[in-house]
Amino acid sequence: MIREKDTIAAIATGTGSAGIGIVRLSGPEAVSIADRLFRGKRRLSELNSYTAAYGHLVRTKGAGQKTPAGSEADPGTKEEILDEVIALVMRAPHTYTTEDVVELSCHGGPLVLKRVLEELTLAGARLAEPGEFTKRAYLGGRIDLSEAEAVMDVIAAENERALDASLRQLRGGLKEAVSELREKLLYETAYIESALDDPENYSLENYGDRMRTVLTDCTGRIHGLIAGAEEGRMLRQGIRTAIVGRPNAGKSSILNLLLGEERAIVTEIAGTTRDTLEEKAILGGVQLVLIDTAGIRETADAVEQIGVQRAKAAVETADLILLVIDAAEPLSGEDKELLRSISEDTASAEPGNAADEKQGSGQNHAPILVLLNKNDLDTVVSAKDLEQILKENGIGLFGDTDASKRTGRVLEISAATGDGKDRLAEAVQELFFSGKLTDSQEQYILNARHKEALQDALSALSRVSDSVDAGVGEDFYTIDLLAAYEALGRITGETLEDDLADKIFKEFCMGK
Ligand code: GDP
Repeated sequence: MIREKDTIAAIATGTGSAGIGIVRLSGPEAVSIADRLFRGKRRLSELNSYTAAYGHLVRTKGAGQKTPAGSEADPGTKEEILDEVIALVMRAPHTYTTEDVVELSCHGGPLVLKRVLEELTLAGARLAEPGEFTKRAYLGGRIDLSEAEAVMDVIAAENERALDASLRQLRGGLKEAVSELREKLLYETAYIESALDDPENYSLENYGDRMRTVLTDCTGRIHGLIAGAEEGRMLRQGIRTAIVGRPNAGKSSILNLLLGEERAIVTEIAGTTRDTLEEKAILGGVQLVLIDTAGIRETADAVEQIGVQRAKAAVETADLILLVIDAAEPLSGEDKELLRSISEDTASAEPGNAADEKQGSGQNHAPILVLLNKNDLDTVVSAKDLEQILKENGIGLFGDTDASKRTGRVLEISAATGDGKDRLAEAVQELFFSGKLTDSQEQYILNARHKEALQDALSALSRVSDSVDAGVGEDFYTIDLLAAYEALGRITGETLEDDLADKIFKEFCMGK
């Protein structure tokens, strides 16, 4: 176990004014440093773990005149009260960081907290770097890398679903899934090595078949994790949604309907040619990032308004396309041109890549929801008409199993009355979270590092599969099995050698 020698301090609560603000200390000197400032009935060093004490924090009057580390305050020096606090003492190893921790609950003013922090650094603490408490929890062996990352995601979560997924990961869900996989791979490696060493006790007869079963199982699980990760990405960052349609179809009205009262965060993103605006909306608990909404709001530009170019650009980066049609008017040439341009993109997508896209960016097959808007008026365009046109354009309806096709669905809606918003929410959930958002256990907030590791593991396993097909010796499998094992270990930050040695000796008692 790696132990940090210094004691770190930071303001653990937000930057604004609040009732309470917490300054946190962690490290071997946490209690003694806090004691240098704390004045109460008892010294903090006398307290049991998980005990709180009421008192005051003081500083010695006269700049720079600090009492030497570890010494009692000189009764002759004048002390100035910094704040009235509750100090909570938590002793190693059962703390967040696994080190001694003291949390000082002060009044929550930025100035007060800053002063307390300053005094703590003068008393011997070092200012913590961002994430350093969690890093210590990892170095102390209390959490693994995926859990440490989840801590950050819990804090950063902007919507309920993202928070749930992060909390699941924090509870060790991802670690468990990865550990199970690694255990399986390690078992097979150890088995092969044992059989090669000790053929009398371990047989490799028909081992290729067994290897195939294990490979199918493991690759299936890894694919599941990656698919869940894609959902996780959308959970965390939102589903990139493009609203397209001809002028007056009702795009900005739909946009406003989506933004509603829950209108959340507006981000300005400097584009290369002009600024684009992204806005976030929560629909049925799912976060949508509405892309290029500046274009929708810029109603003056007639050419831009037709939106074919815009639709094409949006189609390239969106996870979801909302095509708004004015159902109170006969379909226009522009409507058809938009549909055609979106479906053209489908035709040019390489069918062979369908699976990759699903797991990767998912860009080329973003589903399309055709919104027949203004259904509060007498409508002249029916859902049936539109479904027919989708088909003619090579767009399959949802549920279509042909993965090479873009799929779509037609929904009736009224931006004016809000009718149909619920159906839209349901459709989005069904599309992106297979309708099982509430109980899906496999969504984790995987980052690029996790994903790369999973992809590496898949490549290694596919090499094992090639070796099985080629009928080469079993000892060849182990190299790639271990490569997959190692790749997965990068997710949790575990090391290879120690594990392998332990496992082989424990399970197979080699050399005994
Ligand atoms: P955009 O040009 O596509 O952004 O279309 P707008 O959102 O500006 O809407 C064009 C016109 O249609 C406006 O006068 C809206 O008030 C009207 N409109 C939009 N949605 C509806 C709807 O659902 N019902 C009715 N009756 N009018 C609508």
